Amino acid sequence: MSTELDEIRSRLDPDQYSFADGDRREHSQDWGTDDADAVSPDLVVWPECTEDVSAVLAAANERGVPVTPYAAGTSLEGNPVPARGGISLDLTRMDDVHEIRPDGLQIDVGPGIYGSEINDALEEYGLMLPSLPSSGNISTIGGMIANDAAGMKTVKYGEVADWLLEAEAVLPTGEVITAGSKAVKTSSGYNLLDLLVGSEGTLAVVTRLTLRLTGRPEQVAAGRATFADLHDATEAVFDAVRSGVDVAKIELIDPLSAEMANATLGTDLPKAPLIFLEFHANRNVEAEVAFCRTIFEAHDVESFEVARRNEEMADLWEARRELAAAVRAYDPDLSPHKPGDVTVPIDAFPEMVRYIKAVGAEHDLMIPCFGHAGDGNVHYSVLVDPDDPAMVAKGEDLSERIVERAIELDGTATGEHGIGLGKREYLATEHDEAAIATMRAIKRSFDPNGILNPGKIFPEESTPRE
Ligand SMILES: Cc1cc2nc3c(=O)[nH]c(=O)nc-3n(C[C@H](O)[C@H](O)[C@H](O)COP(=O)(O)OP(=O)(O)OC[C@H]3O[C@@H](n4cnc5c(N)ncnc54)[C@H](O)[C@@H]3O)c2cc1C
Repeated sequence: MSTELDEIRSRLDPDQYSFADGDRREHSQDWGTDDADAVSPDLVVWPECTEDVSAVLAAANERGVPVTPYAAGTSLEGNPVPARGGISLDLTRMDDVHEIRPDGLQIDVGPGIYGSEINDALEEYGLMLPSLPSSGNISTIGGMIANDAAGMKTVKYGEVADWLLEAEAVLPTGEVITAGSKAVKTSSGYNLLDLLVGSEGTLAVVTRLTLRLTGRPEQVAAGRATFADLHDATEAVFDAVRSGVDVAKIELIDPLSAEMANATLGTDLPKAPLIFLEFHANRNVEAEVAFCRTIFEAHDVESFEVARRNEEMADLWEARRELAAAVRAYDPDLSPHKPGDVTVPIDAFPEMVRYIKAVGAEHDLMIPCFGHAGDGNVHYSVLVDPDDPAMVAKGEDLSERIVERAIELDGTATGEHGIGLGKREYLATEHDEAAIATMRAIKRSFDPNGILNPGKIFPEESTPRE
């Protein structure tokens, strides 16, 4: 491959590519990949404009060189890991705010900008991109769209992609297409924009995005509710969503996760089932808080505290954001085995959480649960000792049973993290053969030579993990 790579890099400035071990290693993993599963690219390339992306893809396509888009690398399923080597295409230099049109409620940005930087740029206009993942300050808008990311505010504002109007993208041939429209709705032709969403860099490389915006709420209130019983807490969430409480965040934290946060983050959370809440309104936010409190009282809530000072609210959400790190740090001998993000219809949320806790208890394994409860989304980690094969086998069995139960409940194996390498086996559990064949046909139509992020999403492609 070295001749092909030399030809490709000869089209770039010297500071736009690297064969150095350190750069290749940095692009060999994401946040969810173990060292053992890391795969180094042969070459890292940093494009600075659409033309750079186009030139690299066209040259790689002609020579059959794999290209894996890489942004901030915060994926949890190996999504940007270059499973077949080749080029890691790092989009983080394409991080410009191109234009803000405050009257049209729109912003044009490069794919490599962090979500929080978009909101920093919008602050002076009183506007915001409301929906971001919890990782919004460390991950890029291009990575969010490619993974179809969602977050704590999805229960009110939808997924990140619900705010995407138009995207410029480069096909493997180097041709540039524009998908979608700057109009807030369009019925014109096939919806190519939605095909790019969640495609994990396997169809095209997004180089510019137009996002829709909304005004910032004038009133914000955050709250924390404590329950004696986990089932009461999950039923309260279901009831609040079903009753139409206008809540902007509604997050579950189970007692085990609270204990792990206290042990590793220095928080002082009650070791009880907790629901963290946030409400947004332009007037009378109190009414919505009171409505929610009434519903929670019907489910025997033990305490319902409201924070209005910014610092109090920031502390509360900081603790929630750090939970994944707390779970990882809790016991150095235990690692999360296939941490999951199953998502079910809201009426099945109490059963999903009950099932995960029950299988954990049955097999004597710790499974902390937390997550975007209002979307029916549970983040869970089966904790196992990687040096104990019997325990790993049990963890494997439980992970499969949890996903199967989610699908039985009309849910999905992954609500927001995507399939990457880690969840390929579940594609066939969730979709029928004809649907998977249609997905493959779409992949072939965009990328007939299979150069874009090969080894991802589809189960039978061979990768170093097999
Ligand atoms: C602490 C933590 C909290 C998290 N919380 C959430 C959460 O609340 N919700 C959630 O949904 N996720 C969450 N995640 C997962 C992750 O942060 C998101 O999926 C994020 O959107 C990934 O963005 P990234 O910039 O890191 O992309 P990467 O991880 O670098 O790449 C993601 C995928 O996008 C592709 N890609 C990147 N850029 C482009 C482009 N321009 N064109 C085409 N393809 C591209 C890559 O090939 C890869 O397949 C969390 C992760 C961490 C570590």
